[in-house]
Amino acid sequence: MQTIEKFDFSGKKAFVRVDFNVPLDENFRITDDTRIRAALPTLKKILSDGGSPIIASHLGRPKKNPDAKFSLKHILSHVSELLGVDVKFAPDCANEDAATMAAGLKSGEALLLENLRFYAEEEGKPRDLADDASDDEKTTAKKAVKERQKEFVKKLASYADCYVNDAFGTAHRAHASTALIADCFDADNKMFGYLMEKEVDAVQKVMSDINRPFTAIMGGSKVSSKIEIIENLLTKVDNLIIAGGMTYTFIKALGGKTGNSICEDDKLDLALELLDKAKKNGVHIVLAVDVKMADSFSNDAKTGFVKVDEIPDGWEGLDIGPETEKVFAEVIKLSKTILWNGPAGVFEFENFTHGTRSVGEAVVDATKDGAFSLVGGGDSVAAVNKFGIADKVSYVSTGGGALLEAIEGRSLPGIAAIRGY
Ligand code: AMP
Repeated sequence: MQTIEKFDFSGKKAFVRVDFNVPLDENFRITDDTRIRAALPTLKKILSDGGSPIIASHLGRPKKNPDAKFSLKHILSHVSELLGVDVKFAPDCANEDAATMAAGLKSGEALLLENLRFYAEEEGKPRDLADDASDDEKTTAKKAVKERQKEFVKKLASYADCYVNDAFGTAHRAHASTALIADCFDADNKMFGYLMEKEVDAVQKVMSDINRPFTAIMGGSKVSSKIEIIENLLTKVDNLIIAGGMTYTFIKALGGKTGNSICEDDKLDLALELLDKAKKNGVHIVLAVDVKMADSFSNDAKTGFVKVDEIPDGWEGLDIGPETEKVFAEVIKLSKTILWNGPAGVFEFENFTHGTRSVGEAVVDATKDGAFSLVGGGDSVAAVNKFGIADKVSYVSTGGGALLEAIEGRSLPGIAAIRGY
């Protein structure tokens, strides 16, 4: 497989798919540029080799072309500043002007294309379908956009000599620029960027090259959103720590009193099935033993500590208790591979951060002792950032949905398009 490190970009134009889908405030100022910074090593390598990156991304969910609110023009100056070159801008990613600008790029120059999703062809999904469109109309519209997508892919590919995918955040989408375009380049001329390589390696380490014991910490609000992940993990892990809101569905299923805690009553049977599967697979399920309960869902609620299965009516568990912190920490600290997805409590409320923080500290300790720790999925990333421990774990994934699908055991189109699987 081709690698970015080996590839000599000198004199070459590289179509680089990045994930610059950054949050903007109402004045279109970037509020968090992590995703742009994450792609810099790849872009800088291309530039320093004497190549010309043609940078392509989506931003938000535009529904028309153009849509000023979602223009990548808003981030152009910041990208230029971070890269240290005056990046040119193509105000339409797939017209003749863009092709001309790409063709005119000199060695060491960079071009940013306008938002790929201004074209329905990027996602390959029809737009402007009437709400009452018939099934036939939907099928015809789908076919039409898929046909146009082929031309769109060819057009984008025609700008460049090689293709670099550095957008892990969209690797679970089979879109024009994230997967389909790879077919236009031979194996020697397509590769992952550095960020993508790191993400793929991290996933590989927790899903395939596992050092044992392997502990997964699953938190967050609901079990229903994590069923496939848990099922897949039950075939791989030694310990599964169940934390956060999903705790109560398991506790109730086991006959405990969960008061007003978040609970999915229609998932009680499923919870029992998962526990049964764990037993059969020899997986040690670690559930909370005590909780910090509150008399309302609020930071200022009255609080108390109780056993996890004795929560009175009118009270709800919003964080794990001190006994549970110890139990979790003991398991985590003996682990050699750790995957952490989802907070242990409502960590957004200052009075209920303690449990999630203690989980984070245990993960940091285990990492110091040589464990490989991967933290990923929206809220757990926010948690490690909040606690200032992002650089004390082995890897913090940038890809929410993509990471979760990889953990579910699915093949990601953006990765398969380059690696073949
Ligand atoms: P998820 O998106 O499923 O990973 O869930 C993350 C959310 O779960 C966070 O916003 C937490 O506040 C929430 N959460 C964690 N523990 C609890 C709990 N005990 N009760 C209600 N919500 C919770």
